[in-house]
Amino acid sequence: MKTSSIKTVNPATGKIEKEFQEMSEEQINQILDKAVYAFQQWKITSFEDRAEIIHTTASLMREKKEDLAKLCAKEMGKILEEGIAEVELCANILDYYADKSKEFLADKPIDTPQGKAFICYEPIGVILSVQPWNFPFYQLVRSSAPNIMAGNTMVMKHASNVPQCAEMMEKLFLDAGLPKGVYTNLFIPGSKVSNLAADNRIKGVALTGSEPAGASLASVAGKNIKKSTLELGGSDPFIVLEDADIDSAVEVAAYGRLWNAGQVCVSPKRIIVMESFADQFIQKSKEIYERVTVGDPLDPNTNLAPLSSQKALEEVISQVEKTVSQGAKLVFGGKKIKGEGAYMEPTILIGIKKGMLAYTDEIFGPVLCIYAVKNEAEAIELANDTEFGLGATIFSKDINHAVEVARKIDTGMVFINELTGTSPELPFGGTKQSGYGKELSELGIYEFVNEKLIRIAK
Ligand code: NAP
Repeated sequence: MKTSSIKTVNPATGKIEKEFQEMSEEQINQILDKAVYAFQQWKITSFEDRAEIIHTTASLMREKKEDLAKLCAKEMGKILEEGIAEVELCANILDYYADKSKEFLADKPIDTPQGKAFICYEPIGVILSVQPWNFPFYQLVRSSAPNIMAGNTMVMKHASNVPQCAEMMEKLFLDAGLPKGVYTNLFIPGSKVSNLAADNRIKGVALTGSEPAGASLASVAGKNIKKSTLELGGSDPFIVLEDADIDSAVEVAAYGRLWNAGQVCVSPKRIIVMESFADQFIQKSKEIYERVTVGDPLDPNTNLAPLSSQKALEEVISQVEKTVSQGAKLVFGGKKIKGEGAYMEPTILIGIKKGMLAYTDEIFGPVLCIYAVKNEAEAIELANDTEFGLGATIFSKDINHAVEVARKIDTGMVFINELTGTSPELPFGGTKQSGYGKELSELGIYEFVNEKLIRIAK
């Protein structure tokens, strides 16, 4: 058998655990036909009937949370406790849309001087969704829950390194009673995805991932006049203002950067602190990283598990080395941990200047980049001096002032005195090169529906 790119390679051991065959064109065709066919019935299924299945999916996920979290650990190295939290979040998202979709998609009257008018919301058909590996269940649920509740059907292309999670999600939906064809997994490599957007049976495309993948998919969608949403990378600033609680800010930033081994789109990738306390901040960060236990994702003592793959590890190490060769200073870590597995030391970089690699590029690993600035104005300038615009954090005791600063940051989300995070009711998404469109919340359900105007003459 020809080796497939779709496989589980355990990042803690480097061993191939399971391989899957890429789907043939014929299989893909059948899946698309089924999704179109299923749409005819699903679009007229009541909200109540849809909600029952989606609530059941949530219950199944809660029941199986430990097994699902173990699957995440096996496929991409996620710490067990983080995996369990991810699965619980998925269940909450499913419940949220099951409960709220009818209300979100109810007819909306328009105040018009003549006659009557209202907007009604209708599903549009088969949505192609392309998702990354870093939150193997959350990414699938974030994209599919609102669409399925809206009456669309979905074909899901998950990342090639998490095929067992992909397969499991489809099974969870089917076990919960979702009719065949409403949500179907596609086992195809990334290189073959974009062209699918041209297929007439696909009515919209949603991608979370890197800029090149997003640009490739969205350009085909655009050429074929199809709506797209893109949730891309980020280089989130984490600004600590003069009056902040420094101890709390250090804890949140340093541990926050280790969440999911730093492989989070909204990880605090640029810590911006005032010069007046920068040395103290760096020292405290070092003390935290000295106490970090790097190890097996299933070991409850582990704070930092392996990166998702050897390739990912090599990429992060080379980004650190390149930035240091350009003049930045490595004050902690920076190396691969010897032995099997994609393990890396928690790392701290300082002295990063404009023009260096870490200044512009997203580092998808456990690397805390600390910048010292003279004042708040410089902090805002630095925070906005990036092509990305996903999330941001501001630490300050003066909440009104922090909100004023938040308004000056060019990102899709700003969190005050906490890490940028996610919750079913909060819109998630970025601006600039971090993409467009929103997921989650009420806003997330309007991306792939026809907002149809009906006007009645006086
Ligand atoms: P990636 O390489 O772009 O992969 C993401 C998905 O796109 C995978 O399913 C991949 O399939 C597919 N893909 C790859 N090349 C493609 C192409 N030319 N056309 C269409 N699809 C293609 O991303 P990654 O590096 O694994 O993921 C990390 C990135 O995602 C980071 O930049 C991170 O910040 C971003 N991210 C953003 C969010 C957000 O909500 N904004 C959330 C999580 C992650 P294969 O696996 O088969 O290659």
